[in-house]
Amino acid sequence: MTVHGFASPYGHGGQSLQIAIVGRGFSGLMMAIALLKSVSQPFQLRMFDPQPIISGGQALATARSTEILNSRARDLSVSTGEPKDFTRWLQANAHFRQAVSAAIPGFGQIFVPKATFSDYVYQRFSEALAQRTDVSVQMSNEGIARIRRNDNGLFTLSLADGSEAVCDAVVLATGYGLKVPLEKNEQDREAALRSASNNAEHVVVMGNGLRAVDQVLQLRDGGFTGRITILSRRGFLPQPHTRMPADAVFPSQPMPSQLRHIVRFVRSACAEAEENGWSWQAAMNGLRKRARTLWASLPPSEKRQFNRHLRAIYDSHRNRLPADVHARLDRELAGGMTELKRGTTLKHIVGGLVVRWAGQSAEEPFAADNVIDCRCLSPDLKDPVIADLLSSGLATTDELDLGLSVNPAGELLTPRGRPAGLFAIGPLGLGSLPDIDLVPEIVTQSYAAAALIEARSRPQLQAG
Ligand SMILES: Cc1cc2nc3c(=O)[nH]c(=O)nc-3n(C[C@H](O)[C@H](O)[C@H](O)COP(=O)(O)OP(=O)(O)OC[C@H]3O[C@@H](n4cnc5c(N)ncnc54)[C@H](O)[C@@H]3O)c2cc1C
Repeated sequence: MTVHGFASPYGHGGQSLQIAIVGRGFSGLMMAIALLKSVSQPFQLRMFDPQPIISGGQALATARSTEILNSRARDLSVSTGEPKDFTRWLQANAHFRQAVSAAIPGFGQIFVPKATFSDYVYQRFSEALAQRTDVSVQMSNEGIARIRRNDNGLFTLSLADGSEAVCDAVVLATGYGLKVPLEKNEQDREAALRSASNNAEHVVVMGNGLRAVDQVLQLRDGGFTGRITILSRRGFLPQPHTRMPADAVFPSQPMPSQLRHIVRFVRSACAEAEENGWSWQAAMNGLRKRARTLWASLPPSEKRQFNRHLRAIYDSHRNRLPADVHARLDRELAGGMTELKRGTTLKHIVGGLVVRWAGQSAEEPFAADNVIDCRCLSPDLKDPVIADLLSSGLATTDELDLGLSVNPAGELLTPRGRPAGLFAIGPLGLGSLPDIDLVPEIVTQSYAAAALIEARSRPQLQAG
């Protein structure tokens, strides 16, 4: 038996392993934590993002400190095999303990501000890095313009400033695409909120997800007393979390294979959960655990049908609001100054929008002093890096063109369905893996990707 040092897909010319992560949002930072904990040999990690900050994730860190995460603390551990890691961190955090009633046992069921989660993720990253004196991490504020696979299996990243970096492994964590600089984003947000509060009589909030609800409540918090229209194509607003624990429950028998039978099956699972003293939310949590195999088993026509008719309903039941936030939204709608309207936005015009209302064919102008776009994001497949990967055959889209085709470990699949050796963590894989835009799924995927990178970086044992 001979040990071939670095006679593996990774490692070149005796240099240490080079890994690149493109994007420093939650997925990028989570991937860094997973690599630091999983890859046993020394390596150099380079993290690219034109956004200057490093934190628990851009979407989460830029949020105002009062905004509450819509996942329970018990579901937000970034440590594999230690589901209580986040709640233990909260318990050890004197500042947080003082702010929250000690009567809440274990903190597992509570909802925490986004900034708190962001602090936790960053602390875990710093600790993981401190444990690894054999790893160097370099943060670059350059965006990546192009990724190429070389004949020797390595990857060349072209940076926006024209320079290049050669790496053994590349992880794309670009989420929904490049962001505008944070400062500008925040200033625009503040300015929009101020001007809406000061001058406007009618504000339209486009979208129906958590961001739209956040925005409505922030307008009110900022003192806006005018009319708000939530303009949504389907009209399904997020449902509430239950005040009960909602541990996942779901019938164990095999799921039917046709969409309409699946819908009936899920409805009766929810009813059964309620009858047994649990909640429909517990059944939805159970469904989420089976969503991946279920999605993979559906033929493309049924996937399309789900997307057209059921996705909005599914999203409104999976992305839920803490019960008190939901109650506030209900009061807001009942008060009459906030209205939910179903319609499709066709274009922006001076003084408002052109809209086609649900069930009508005519287009109509809809006056608004201010329009805030909170529609659900999807990965930007026209982003030059992604478009280039698609045209060079290193990636392909999923059947519905919602994102890139990936396996559960986040490895990009080529048009022939082969792993491309590149990884895409998080929302980029939304069309292949349901719920991969959520923290628990991103955590699991990051560790799976890191385990593959670790396996490929190990010296290969060969008979001989
Ligand atoms: C307001 C809000 C609340 C949420 N609440 C929850 C919650 O309670 N629970 C839950 O599970 N999930 C929640 N999520 C969802 C989850 O946090 C997101 O799906 C996740 O943050 C996505 O992170 P990401 O790093 O993949 O993408 P992003 O946050 O979009 O980050 C991608 C980064 O990549 C960079 N980038 C893009 N292109 C390039 C390039 N070419 N070169 C270099 N860098 C590039 C961008 O600048 C950006 O910084 C929430 C999301 C939002 C927006």
